Amino acid sequence: MTSYIDIYGAGLAGCEAAWQAVRRGVPVHLHEMKPQKTTPAHRYSGFAELVCSNSLRSNQIFNAIGLLKEELSRAKSLIMEAAYACEVPAGAALAVDRIRFSDYITEKIKTHPLITVIEEEVTSIPDDPDAVTVVATGPLTSDALSKAIAALTGSEYLHFYDAAAPIVSAESIDMEKVWMASRYDKGDAAYLNCPMTKEEYTAFYHALICAKEAALHEFDTPTDVDTSTDVDASNSTEKDGGLQVFEGCMPVEVMARRGPDTLLYGPLKPVGLTDPKTGREPYAVVQLRQENAEKSMYNLVGFQTHLTWEEQRRVFGMIPGLEHAEFLRYGVMHRNTFMNAPKLLSADYSLRTRPNLFFAGQMTGVEGYIESTGSGFIAGINASRRVLGEEPLYFPRETMLGAMAAYISDECITDFQPMNANFGLIPPLEKKVKGGKKGRNDAYAARAIEKIDEMIALGLCGEER
Ligand SMILES: Cc1cc2nc3c(=O)[nH]c(=O)nc-3n(C[C@H](O)[C@H](O)[C@H](O)COP(=O)(O)OP(=O)(O)OC[C@H]3O[C@@H](n4cnc5c(N)ncnc54)[C@H](O)[C@@H]3O)c2cc1C
Repeated sequence: MTSYIDIYGAGLAGCEAAWQAVRRGVPVHLHEMKPQKTTPAHRYSGFAELVCSNSLRSNQIFNAIGLLKEELSRAKSLIMEAAYACEVPAGAALAVDRIRFSDYITEKIKTHPLITVIEEEVTSIPDDPDAVTVVATGPLTSDALSKAIAALTGSEYLHFYDAAAPIVSAESIDMEKVWMASRYDKGDAAYLNCPMTKEEYTAFYHALICAKEAALHEFDTPTDVDTSTDVDASNSTEKDGGLQVFEGCMPVEVMARRGPDTLLYGPLKPVGLTDPKTGREPYAVVQLRQENAEKSMYNLVGFQTHLTWEEQRRVFGMIPGLEHAEFLRYGVMHRNTFMNAPKLLSADYSLRTRPNLFFAGQMTGVEGYIESTGSGFIAGINASRRVLGEEPLYFPRETMLGAMAAYISDECITDFQPMNANFGLIPPLEKKVKGGKKGRNDAYAARAIEKIDEMIALGLCGEER
């Protein structure tokens, strides 16, 4: 076993992993390709660069991302320390001055006596199974390293492009309007079906084809990516405002623009579905598929989309049963290198087939700045435990840190897509609480904080050295 850790990528996850390792006295060699080489989205020379928004989202503990921040802060995360030191006013959200934020972290990392920064592009994964390594090169990992990861994990397990449908919380669906059934009643009743009349479909169709799409960046197009390892480029069919799409993951709005009937033969086809209320096949049906074993989350089947979040709320809210839907994640289509983590990783973010090799950040299928930080936090702790000859540390599922780790390593998930922090990932409360959604979320947060505090009290979240 090596006596130090190699960490690839000085982004949010890589810096957090490095910090957690040195807090345990384990030296780190941190490899970062900036400033010699940058991804299409990175511009600044410093570490932990926020490539888009400067908001780290809600800072309220009854919000899932707020809870994740609180857990990380209590456990002495470097990224959270920097965020509070560089905070700018943003109401209930935590936003930062991105330059000061990056400079703060860069300074802490570069001046730490146990961290050696190596400015280079990493192009391969070490063969030595004893080398303790954390790969945290992000959603825009350079091509050479992407190829090396694909060769190691199997190319079918590395995706370069994220085309995900929205996910809504089960409790926000109007169950009076939908019914549970599979097409032709084959097998278990597996889908929630949202029936549409002709009038409802026509109104929805017109709203969909005119809805506003998210801005497209150069790095959003899959055309500059070597997709040969996971997508058959010959399937690419359509250029829509510069977004080259693939038949298998075409945005629902692009499909709709082919004509009013296209969706009726595609994701909204009603055949084999009889509405028990009318005894008839509806004009159109949107199907919702269970996302997790607890049945707390459902995805909109075939609804991968490039619409703005606001438009997703407006247009998909026209679907009967989804008028008040709570979106746990919005549909997205953008460049994103991520692994099929449930097939590959354990809940300590190590590769199941090679436990000394860890992955962290957005590439593990967590989605967002703080979620990436959280995975770096766990990977950094566990990589240092490897070097110190200690057993892996798994975070309790009741915490947002543990819930995300459990999600990305859940072998039961067959159609894996990256995920934001949300309360749908957390096991249900032992007993019902008053106060509606806010009361429930407060109770989730209180339970999570108690668990984290127990770990801190036991010294499991690290000591200053
Ligand atoms: C364009 C874009 C916009 C986003 N906007 C948001 C947003 O607004 N809010 C949000 O919450 N999330 C956003 N995300 C998602 C995600 O939260 C960020 O990408 C986040 O920075 C991921 O953290 P990370 O540590 O995994 O990767 P990064 O922060 O990207 O860090 C990876 C680091 O690895 C380096 N690197 C890459 N390849 C190599 C190599 N071969 N050798 C050495 N170094 C390498 C890079 O230079 C970089 O410094 C966005 C993602 C993208 C792609």
